Amino acid sequence: MLKHVAGPDTQKELKEFRDVLATCYGPHGRVALLQPVASGHVTITSQSGKVFQLLDSLNPVLRILTGSLSTYSQRHKDAAKLASLLTTNIILNCFALDCPRRQISDIIDHILTECIERVRTPPYVITCDWSSVSHLMSVTRTLLSSHSLSSCFNNEELNHFSSVLLQAFLHVAVPSNSKDDHGSLSIQNKIHVYLINEIQCPCTKLYHGLLIEEMLSIGFDREMTLSLAHHDFRRDKNGHISVAVFKISLAGDEDDGFKNKTSFEASISSQVSASRMIADAKKEELLELGATLFNSGVGLVLCQKCVHHSLREYLEGKGVPIIERLGLPYIDPVIDLTGAVVINSLSATISPQLFGHLKSVTVQVIGDKQFILLEGPSPHATIILPFLLEIVGEELKSVVKSTINILEDLLYNPQLVSGGGCVLTQLASFITKQAECVDDELCGRLMSSINTYLAVSNALSTSLKQCAAALYHNKRDSVTLTDSLFNHCWSFPHSHSSYTHFDASRTCSCGRVSFASIEGEQSAVVPLWSTVNSWKGLPTLIPETLEQSLLTDSTLCYSKISPSLFLSDSLSGTASAITFAKDLSTLIIRTHSTLF
Ligand SMILES: [Zn+2]
Repeated sequence: MLKHVAGPDTQKELKEFRDVLATCYGPHGRVALLQPVASGHVTITSQSGKVFQLLDSLNPVLRILTGSLSTYSQRHKDAAKLASLLTTNIILNCFALDCPRRQISDIIDHILTECIERVRTPPYVITCDWSSVSHLMSVTRTLLSSHSLSSCFNNEELNHFSSVLLQAFLHVAVPSNSKDDHGSLSIQNKIHVYLINEIQCPCTKLYHGLLIEEMLSIGFDREMTLSLAHHDFRRDKNGHISVAVFKISLAGDEDDGFKNKTSFEASISSQVSASRMIADAKKEELLELGATLFNSGVGLVLCQKCVHHSLREYLEGKGVPIIERLGLPYIDPVIDLTGAVVINSLSATISPQLFGHLKSVTVQVIGDKQFILLEGPSPHATIILPFLLEIVGEELKSVVKSTINILEDLLYNPQLVSGGGCVLTQLASFITKQAECVDDELCGRLMSSINTYLAVSNALSTSLKQCAAALYHNKRDSVTLTDSLFNHCWSFPHSHSSYTHFDASRTCSCGRVSFASIEGEQSAVVPLWSTVNSWKGLPTLIPETLEQSLLTDSTLCYSKISPSLFLSDSLSGTASAITFAKDLSTLIIRTHSTLF
């Protein structure tokens, strides 16, 4: 989809904004191609944060919307698309109402506040069971599936990817020996992701530890890697390798703190002999450092910058390898992994208290590349993923990070809601039922008429259903329905013939409600079906014949399907998206009424 992002009309721009976001919403979403009018550069993305940045509109409503959403998406990556779609739908649906803006915003505030309270209570809330691997697998899979990039994987690959990601998370989040865990990085920063050209997805693999890629720029080549593979490291009495980590250059430059012992002599000697004397003095100082490290029991030296060849030769001769030119990206993980106190001054006294520890140093071959795997007391994990396309590489890393973020949130707040749009249709139904009970007292408090309340209530219910319907992109071949018994969301093929041949195990989108032939309960269950609203028009009942055909051979009930099939969303993400939509839509409707 190619959108020229411009236009003077607020409604038109809001609809375009919504369409772009809807394009890449949910597990079946696609990537959006965005081309600003001012320049020809086309950006391909499925990340809401990028869409907000690129939609640089002059329209004040769009500016408030994209500005607020940019900030919001930095903290709530997973919920940003729902927040933006819901906000836009509410504004557009309420725009169509011929009611006072102040009353509309007060009613929205009242109804959505009730929704936020409601969604935190049973039966909406599902507790995340951290003791069940199959439950955690289904949560992880849903989180991964909620991104457009999941369409790059088939079911088997997605299951494998979910399993690797969950294992990585559990390895880092639940250290086996907590007293050794002195890590300072967040869980997200302890999980490293590499994209490798040569592997296919089923080879997506997890390594416990930090992988350092073989390349000349980080100071070791294939020959050195091979020598490390067979190296017998010095170990302390606990069997660990003591590691000294330097953040400064050990190349012997004066800038790095080496003393210039020969400055006076150099001034009175010939330049050649002076240079030699300086070099000798540096070498002498480096060898003193090497001897101190060796005598202190160091088994491996890691250095962010360069190491002088004389120091390298000395230590390697003593059986202490050096990995130099690690670079800034590796240094913080190495410090966290080993627990070392970084040495950033040569004037510091070198003592064993500064040293970190490693459990093992091994060499791993992946594709045609070799890596050194460092495993330390602080748990780290490295995930190897297939390199799909250059343009999606960074997005894939971002998907992993946001999934890890949500899993981390779930550790502190282990509550979920039904995924696949089901919680949205449940809330839409709740709003409709609340509207049926509206009375003069409530309308009096909101200073509105019952008709205005019902109109706004309908607009909000429609907005939530539109968000659920937006998860399903193939509207030509399928229809999205909601049942009136459990109010879950269902997607069925359009063809009539398939409606009459429902498999009893067929489930709603989240998997928690299914058709099943349970004798004795058939008469008690009489579901009516209505379409979840598409982009155009309000919800309507589907034809009578269609309802009957749906009920001919089956009934609706909760079934005992495998938990691994359940789709769940984070409660905190869903609640925060609704809160965001409530706050921003009421603000815009109240303060920008003249624009409508
Ligand atoms: Zn459901």
